Order: sequence, then structure tokens, then C-alpha cells
Amino acid sequence: MEKRLKPMDAEQLREYGHKMVDFIADYYKTIENFPVLSQVEPGYLRNLLPDSAPNQPDSFQHVLDDIQAKILPGVTHWQSPNYFAYYPSNSSVAGFLGEMLSAGLNIVGFSWITSPAATELEMIVLDWLAKMLKLPEDFLSAGQGGGVIQGTASEAVLVVLLAARDKALRRVGKGALEKLVVYASDQTHSALQKACQIAGIHPENCRLLKANSSTNYALSPELLSETISQDLAIGLIPFFLCATVGTTSSTAVDPLLALGKFAKSNEMWFHVDAAYAGSACICPEFRHYIDGVEEADSFNMNAHKWFLTNFDCSALWVKDRSALVQALSTNPEFLKNKASQANMVVDYKDWQIPLGRRFRSLKLWMVLRLYGLENLQCYIRSHIKLAKHFEDLVAQDTRFEVVTPRIFSLVCFRLLPPPNDEYHGNKLNHELLDAVNSTGNVFVSHTVLSGKYILRFAVGAPLTEEKHVNAAWKVLQDKATALLGESLR
Ligand SMILES: *Cc1c(COP(=O)(O)O)cnc(C)c1O
Repeated sequence: MEKRLKPMDAEQLREYGHKMVDFIADYYKTIENFPVLSQVEPGYLRNLLPDSAPNQPDSFQHVLDDIQAKILPGVTHWQSPNYFAYYPSNSSVAGFLGEMLSAGLNIVGFSWITSPAATELEMIVLDWLAKMLKLPEDFLSAGQGGGVIQGTASEAVLVVLLAARDKALRRVGKGALEKLVVYASDQTHSALQKACQIAGIHPENCRLLKANSSTNYALSPELLSETISQDLAIGLIPFFLCATVGTTSSTAVDPLLALGKFAKSNEMWFHVDAAYAGSACICPEFRHYIDGVEEADSFNMNAHKWFLTNFDCSALWVKDRSALVQALSTNPEFLKNKASQANMVVDYKDWQIPLGRRFRSLKLWMVLRLYGLENLQCYIRSHIKLAKHFEDLVAQDTRFEVVTPRIFSLVCFRLLPPPNDEYHGNKLNHELLDAVNSTGNVFVSHTVLSGKYILRFAVGAPLTEEKHVNAAWKVLQDKATALLGESLR
């Protein structure tokens, strides 16, 4: 008796697909019943699952039961309205539908011919998004530049660093790799450091310049200028400057205009990382935070953070796409085709590290079409308003302080340390974080600024409302009261 597997049966897809959508919809309805931060111990899953894969098929219902009983306890619920850690990673119905369609078509769009719609839709939606952000025209696909969807901001900074490195080496000679220098503030995301390691930049030539509270942790153009002068004096070659709009610790905004001028006068590539805060710049009242982006060679914003597009979708724009292509293109025989050979098309394989690529533009297109600019602006404003509200709550409690001025939807705050005792202040805040997160009612994360241990409260989950912010603050206050009571004893 021969049994043949039918892995893509349309009727089975319909039946199970509907069940899976129901399962996910129920998940969202009951999401607040789970501890927002998973409370399992490391290795918990080994004890719950068999040692090897099944010989014979399992039933779909059985798998769903296991997801409920064994997988969900080990999930941290990023979409919970009580999630305030790191930065948000939005999902939405529109984003979900786009992701679903992308999985359904399951194309691999590395060059234009492998699915013309994938390449062309990506160019179009990134032009749309560039216009929403009022990016300079040089970033649009009509000229020498254009946008591309990377998986993450980390890949975005890596590909532009490689493009910049090779562009610089073409200018100064291949032997000069050891002399190339990268500049950024010490608040820059660690993705830059990783990119430098991969790109073969000499470890001592990755200058992470100190940013402190006097500039609210923004990079100082004077310090940059001094450092560049010193490096030039000893024969080094500045080639890459990374500025951040909305740093990961505290949403600091580097002064793009001033920094960009230095980059230009030193023939450096200027990259702007606005992974989180870029989303806010679709609102006219926040657009000024990227004033000076005109000076940039590349600009990055994560649509998968605070822009309702399910992970992963990181939008990168460059002014000179040939720099990317020169660094990253290959042209093996088995990929040759008429359109590519005639240079009539964009082949996104030459703008990224991997060959294969998903049809990610579908979900961004869905988000832009099903919500529209005005709704998206309101969405951003509502979170900023909630963060402002939280900031007010913190400011009213004399046991706490707001540590850096709130700019977007992140509040950096802490319990005030005992007089002249930063050490115990740090310990106290660490304990407060653990106490709060172990309740399962809220998830907050931390950072360290100028040696101070600080709590980060990032509003931005799609389901978060004022009542959730108030409840989270109540948990923080109650745990603070308990901790301070203990330390008095
Ligand atoms: C989140 C973040 C990153 C890293 O994002 P990935 O997409 O996970 O690589 C980089 N830079 C900034 C400013 C960020 O906020």
C-alpha cells in the first residue's frame, strides 16, 4: 500500500489555515492572561518534548494542543499591551496578512526575473515611505539611489559599511584597509561594532566617541572634529560616520546637520540609523529630528519596530546604489538572464548579504494601504502621549527621577539612590526591575548611562492603552514601596 504525501493540498490549507487563524485570534484575545515575560527556567522544553522527530504523522489538533501547553509558556509576549521592554516589535492585522501572503506565495526574489512584482513593489513602497518621511529625492528609485528592505538594522549598517569601505579603497588604494577609521558615539547600537568586525576594520579604528549627559548622550560635533583631525595627522583615513536618531539606550538624537558637514568635507560615508525613531518622523511635528538627512549617504528605519509591520522589515535607502552593487554583486552563469544582463532592472541580491530574499514588501504595502498616513501618524502620537503621561507619573513621585528628557515614546527613569551612594542606587534599581518583571504583569528593561542603572519604559505595543500604563506604574510603585521598606529595616 503506497501512501503519497500531499504537502500542499489546497483544501487542507483552507481547513488548517482557518483553524490557525482562529488560534492566533484567540491568542490575541487572551494575551493578557499570560505572564508578559516568560517565567520558564533554561532548558524547560527538553523535558516536555520527545528526543526525536515522529516516524508517523501527528494530528494537527495534537500539535495545537502542544503549542498551547508547552510552547506558549516559553513565549515572551511582545504583543502584550503590558510589554514596555527594549523597543516594540509591532504586529498588526495588515502586517500579518502581508506576511501570510508572502508565506503563501513563497517566492525567492533575488533578481528581478525571479518575481518581477517582488522587486518592483519593493521599489515602489520604499519610494512611498521615503516620501512620507520627506527624505531627499536622491533616495528615491528614480535617480541613482533607492530603497531596499533588509532583514534588520544590523544588516543595513553592514551593507552600507561594506559599500563605503570599498568606495574608499577604490579612492585611496586597496592596501589602505588598515588605515580606515569609523566614527560614531558610544551610544551607537552594537550592530556597528559587529559590522566593523565583519568588514575587517582594524579594531582600534572603530572610534566610539564618548557622549554624556551634557549633550543628552548625543554625539558632539566638536569632539568628532577633534578626533578626525588627530587621526588625519597620524595618516589614518576617516571613511565612515554613523549617526543615530533615537539611540537604543535613551533615544538620543545626534545632530545630523553638523555631523553631515564633517562627513562631507572629509569624503566620508554618512549613515543615519533611525531604526526606532524614524517612524515618528512621518509626523510633521517630529520630522525635524531628521533635519540634516539631506547630508546622509544612507538612512535606515525599522518598519518592524514601531510601524505596524510584522518582523522582519528594515527599510534602508541609499543615494548611490552603485556603491552597494560594486561591493556586493556577483554574476554567476546560473543566474544570468536577459533583463539583468541588459542592466534594465534592479537585482536586489546585489544590495544585501544573502542571495535569497523574501517578498517582504507585501506586508509594508498592506500596512500603508490598509491604514494610510493619517492613521499611522495618530498611532505614533498616541504612544508619545502615553509616554508623556508615564513621564508625568514618574515626575510626581519624589522617590523617582526621570533621568534623560523624554523625546519619543521611551521614558528613562530610576529610583533615586540614597545620598552619595550610587552603588546602592544601582543595586536598588536592579532589584526593582527583577521584582517588577517577575510579577508577569509587566515587562520593563534597563540600561546603564554614565554608570547609573536605569529602567527603560518603552510605550509602543499596538494594544497598549492608558489603563495599561497606569497599571504598570502601580506595579512599579508597589514594588518600590516594598523594596524601600525592606532597605529601611
Ligand atoms: C533596534 C535598533 C537596532 C538593531 O535593530 P535590528 O533590526 O534588530 O538589527 C539598531 N539601531 C538602533 C538605533 C535600534 O534602535
